[in-house]
Amino acid sequence: MAAAPAPLRVSDALRKKLAKLGLSTEADLLVHLPLRYEDETRLVPVARAFTGEPVQVEVVVQDSEVQLRPRRQLVVRAADDSGMVTLRFFSFYPSQQSMLAPGARIRAFGEVRGGFFGPEMVHPRFRPVADGEALPAELTPIYPSTAGLANSALQKLVGRALGSADLSDTLPDELRRRLKLPGFARSLTYLHAPPADADPDALQARRHPAWRRIKFDEVLAQQMSLRRAYLARREQGAPVLVARDDLGARLLDRLPFGLTGAQLRAMAEIAGDLAQPYPMQRLLQGDVGAGKTIVAALAACQAISAGWQAAFMAPTEILAEQHYLKLRDWLEPLGVRIAWLSGSLKGKAKQAQLAAAAADAQLVVGTHALIQDGVDFAKLGLAIVDEQHRFGVAQRLALRNKGSNPHQLMMSATPIPRTLAMSYYADLDVTVLDELPPGRTPIKTRLVADNRRQDVVGFVKKHVEEGRQAYWVCPLIEESEALQLQTAQETYEALSADLPALTVGLVHGRLKADEKQAVMAAFAAGDIDVLVATTVIEVGVDVPNASLMVIEHAERFGLSQLHQLRGRVGRGQYESSCVLVYAGPLGEIARQRLKIIFEHTDGFEIARQDLQIRGPGEFVGSRQSGVPLLRYADLELDADLVDMARDVAEEMLTAHPDLAERHLQRWLGSREELLKS
Ligand code: ADP
Ligand code: MG
Repeated sequence: MAAAPAPLRVSDALRKKLAKLGLSTEADLLVHLPLRYEDETRLVPVARAFTGEPVQVEVVVQDSEVQLRPRRQLVVRAADDSGMVTLRFFSFYPSQQSMLAPGARIRAFGEVRGGFFGPEMVHPRFRPVADGEALPAELTPIYPSTAGLANSALQKLVGRALGSADLSDTLPDELRRRLKLPGFARSLTYLHAPPADADPDALQARRHPAWRRIKFDEVLAQQMSLRRAYLARREQGAPVLVARDDLGARLLDRLPFGLTGAQLRAMAEIAGDLAQPYPMQRLLQGDVGAGKTIVAALAACQAISAGWQAAFMAPTEILAEQHYLKLRDWLEPLGVRIAWLSGSLKGKAKQAQLAAAAADAQLVVGTHALIQDGVDFAKLGLAIVDEQHRFGVAQRLALRNKGSNPHQLMMSATPIPRTLAMSYYADLDVTVLDELPPGRTPIKTRLVADNRRQDVVGFVKKHVEEGRQAYWVCPLIEESEALQLQTAQETYEALSADLPALTVGLVHGRLKADEKQAVMAAFAAGDIDVLVATTVIEVGVDVPNASLMVIEHAERFGLSQLHQLRGRVGRGQYESSCVLVYAGPLGEIARQRLKIIFEHTDGFEIARQDLQIRGPGEFVGSRQSGVPLLRYADLELDADLVDMARDVAEEMLTAHPDLAERHLQRWLGSREELLKS
């Protein structure tokens, strides 16, 4: 192990400010890279300074005064041989005022504009200089900073770190040449202090080879870290789950459908993993409605028939309940003992389920309740987590810790683009269900402005008269859950009044679990025609006769949410539609989102476009401990680097463990702990 890096030797006040930027060691400073650069290597005569770009002038102050109108400001008139320029400061310290006393020679950097009294610079950066003082030979780096921390202070700290920290390369020469990447020290020095003739556009756009090297290093650190966690888990033993009877085959016989090719492939991969003496770490990814549940059920069958327990955890009560009912329907007739744990179970009922989990239950289905203290499993061999992105890292870990290193199957319907998947799931094996079950009817999407709400109500009525059912999803009101409930209640009342012949139901997050269940059961049984809902139905709900989805204030939803919601319909043999009701005026992002959801039905394509409009930061839900997020590399633009780093990560870990260790230390430092989940 490399020694822990020494903390910075700076004042406490400065240390606090640096900590806000995530800078606590010299190594951190090294890779704190400029946002942009300013060219202070040249002087421009005032008379030729109207370039529309920031420039540097060197002038001598003629006079300066504080004016009070139209607002308080310091007005400084200064000149060089070619002309006069007015400098204006709306906030200033006395010390700055004295630096700008008549006779002072300063260099001012900023954009020169035409003002009423001739050329002006508003709030230029400036510093006093001596007559004839040499110009810097390098571009001035402008660093990301925080309140009260001057760029010049950061520049000084970084400069010091460059002089004293370890800049040795962590890529072996041979590898570096193979990847055609420049050296680390050279790249870093270049980016912190580019020569005056550097191409500012390539620097700014982070296309320069020096940037490429830095981005590669960053991605490599992330890949190695995840890879190392993956390999470490493999070192631990796990139960070998080999089926000892034909439970799985009997389940397949009972199904009213055959598996798709994608489901069969997924099943085979999972079956192979479960039979290994180390734990499976697999993500089953598939678009909404791809049929992940049955694949998971078959995996559970393998664990059960090998004599172990399986646990199946889902993020919401409604979803967990649906899974429970479906799995009971599938498996109880085959003699499988199933327990059910949810937050709403109380007293004796709960004790009975807990006792079952700790004794002879073979499958335990539930919500977060599964991972609470006091829940013991007799012999947990397989942990299944549905909609895994809705759980935090710690929660998934907790389920794993309920057994002696069980196999893990994670499932997600949030399709994420390939590069993002490689980056975020480098510690998992990924199986993709890339085929929907046959016979799905394409969903017709319509966009309707909210002043045509009555038309939508008429459309719902007609739809129900044809024997179908509908969802009506109320707007998401992020600021206030109370307001959201109120809106749902009002919508429910309005629709009940508008559609007196129909049965309208209401479900929202505040209902008690058994109330929710009762409503969902009535909807599934066809006793409710129109279900008014908040986003509680976002995930997993499956009612084939419901073939119309109305989403109000669609402009307030994110793309993946819209995609998930729309995926609630189109599940039966009926033609399905989704009506997105929006209220204008639409912001640019909302407009783009609605266009994307209108034009595309493929979840991956939607996700890809979503990534383009929002960037990866918000993309991956609960995995957002913030850590795996990359600071410099852009997963869209630098996809090739992710590919390269992935190929190299394992080679580095096995063939160059010392360099790998130093590399991780340099890039992740103490933050790496957070990744080991
Ligand atoms: P998701 O992947 O979104 O979790 P589900 O597992 O809920 O999807 O499956 C959606 C619906 O498709 C369910 O009603 C399920 O029974 C059905 N289904 C799953 N696989 C098939 C298949 N191979 N053929 C037909 N229907 C299927
Ligand atoms: Mg599902």
